[in-house]
Amino acid sequence: MPFIIQLTRRMWLTDTVFELAFTKPNRLTWLPGQHIRFDFAGADRDYTPVSLPGDPLIRICVRKTGQGRFSDHLSRCPEGERFKISGPHGHFLYHPGETLDVFVGTGTGVAPFVAYASSGVSGFILLQGAKTFDELIYRNLLEPNSRQYVPCISRAPDAGPVFHGRVTDFLKNRLPPDYYQFYLCGREEMIQDAMNIIDDKFSDAKVFFERFT
Ligand SMILES: Cc1cc2nc3c(=O)[nH]c(=O)nc-3n(C[C@H](O)[C@H](O)[C@H](O)COP(=O)(O)OP(=O)(O)OC[C@H]3O[C@@H](n4cnc5c(N)ncnc54)[C@H](O)[C@@H]3O)c2cc1C
Repeated sequence: MPFIIQLTRRMWLTDTVFELAFTKPNRLTWLPGQHIRFDFAGADRDYTPVSLPGDPLIRICVRKTGQGRFSDHLSRCPEGERFKISGPHGHFLYHPGETLDVFVGTGTGVAPFVAYASSGVSGFILLQGAKTFDELIYRNLLEPNSRQYVPCISRAPDAGPVFHGRVTDFLKNRLPPDYYQFYLCGREEMIQDAMNIIDDKFSDAKVFFERFT
């Protein structure tokens, strides 16, 4: 269903990632992990709210990519600008089960896990991938809700008490055997690498994934 929403606030979380807040139409609702779709001059761009439908505003976090057209626009457009969106879309929902949940998110790929945690999901293992320590967005919410929080830092060797490497290195070399339910969210390359490792090492596991590209 189409809606018009209006930008009310931009807040930079890191040098390259910002959070936007928009007005929320009364009739727009979604489940944590679903996404909304912006109509950008006839092209679609999807974003997963970190906020819940009961919150007064819709909040999304966006990475400003090198040559990204829409993310660049979102990083600079004035407050008050109106956008045409549709939604909700997608099926990347949380499925409570008997097995241990392992959430794996890189960059803004933690957005659905922020929504899950805000809606009361806890006790998960979270592998959060970032290039540097400063890019561990929403850590303050995610870490206290997790049973094990593993910041995986790929580019800063002196980043402190973190795992030095990619989330996929942790999956391959550190995560002990167990019965897991995996949730993967991020760019295509990470999802593909993680799926290969899970196939080899945790072949009984259930896997849910959302590609952000
Ligand atoms: C279901 C779904 C949910 C999504 N949720 C979010 C979200 O919550 N937050 C978010 O930031 N993005 C999210 N995305 C990605 C988003 O829809 C856009 O693809 C992204 O913002 C880039 O759009 P753009 O117009 O700026 O770049 P484009 O002009 O389409 O692409 C320009 C270049 O940037 C590269 N690129 C695209 N995405 C990335 C990236 N993430 N990192 C590095 N390079 C990239 C492309 O390969 C291309 O070379 C989601 C995508 C999907 C499919």
